[in-house]
Amino acid sequence: VPGDPVPTEDPAAPGDPVPPGEPVLRMEAVRKSFGTSLVLRDVDLEVAPHTVTALIGASGSGKSTLLRCVNLLEEVDDGAIWLDGEEITDPRADADAVRRRIGVVFQAYNLFPHLTVLQNITLAPRRVHGLSRPEAEERARALLERLGLGAKADEYPDRLSGGQQQRAAIVRALAVRPRLLLLDEITAALDPELVGEVLGLVREVKDEGMTMVITTHEMVFAREVADQVCFLDAGVVLERGTPEEVFGNPGQERTRRFLRRFA
Ligand code: ADP
Ligand code: MG
Repeated sequence: VPGDPVPTEDPAAPGDPVPPGEPVLRMEAVRKSFGTSLVLRDVDLEVAPHTVTALIGASGSGKSTLLRCVNLLEEVDDGAIWLDGEEITDPRADADAVRRRIGVVFQAYNLFPHLTVLQNITLAPRRVHGLSRPEAEERARALLERLGLGAKADEYPDRLSGGQQQRAAIVRALAVRPRLLLLDEITAALDPELVGEVLGLVREVKDEGMTMVITTHEMVFAREVADQVCFLDAGVVLERGTPEEVFGNPGQERTRRFLRRFA
């Protein structure tokens, strides 16, 4: 896609410096339980700027919980998480301000059904980020145009295919210019023939420099798009590395067994 990269709020704005070399996201020894079940066990993770990290693993391995901890939808029991060097698990951190810097798209039902695509996309920029309506609409239309949804701006979500809805949901997440985009199984609810167009958009967003953490069962896609792959097994990052390392030469028998299902 020609044109400017997806803009990100300048992290190095005066008074809010990000040390050079600092990962966008860092997790150290993060633990999370629900009742007596330990869902994340001492998870460490580093996500460098402009990279894609793919979390893979069986259902129930803790992928969504990990993303929910990053977005402060879940409180960690132990360990810490930093966004641009700022500890967001610090009880004094401003959770709303943190969430404004993180875009999230889930498996389904991301758009408000009673609002048009354009209204969906301009909602947060207007209400949360204080943009005027014309400013927000101009930004949204430009983004929709560039990402191939210009013709859908004034449609309601139920007039769009599932694939178009998910693409619009990604555009909505980008409209607030997040530092980090979290995508949780965004193609899992789609008919197979619609998966490609959504993954294609993720690829474009990556090419424009967005930093992302994604969970997916699309192994071919993860292998192609990710810079880093983490295999979660019962809340443990059992394996991590480049796609070549994890898919091509996994060190653990459990990883091999998991990947065989997709072969
Ligand atoms: P994944 O996304 O890899 O499928 P999840 O993070 O959704 O895994 O779930 C990990 C484990 O945590 C599962 O056993 C799930 O049942 C449990 N779990 C997730 N959320 C909750 C919750 N809010 N309350 C209790 N258990 C939960
Ligand atoms: Mg999940």
